[in-house]
Amino acid sequence: MVIALLKGNKPVSYISETAICDICGSKGKLVDGEKLKKDLKFEIENPVGFYECSNPKCDVAYFNKELKIYFLKQDISSK
Ligand SMILES: [Zn+2]
Repeated sequence: MVIALLKGNKPVSYISETAICDICGSKGKLVDGEKLKKDLKFEIENPVGFYECSNPKCDVAYFNKELKIYFLKQDISSK
């Protein structure tokens, strides 16, 4: 299943709703950009295409496979 990311009225890319965490192999769920912005301890400019790792034992909180970015649990404030 894919959802469209809209920029203006034009879909800029299609990304799937789930992705596998590279660290633990668990399935991650696509996370809303605004929620990610709120959770992170620092600012990120374009929080698109990030997934939330579903494994509570994994150090990774959010990841973006395309950009190879991994936010650890210590990088977020609400968990
Ligand atoms: Zn993980």
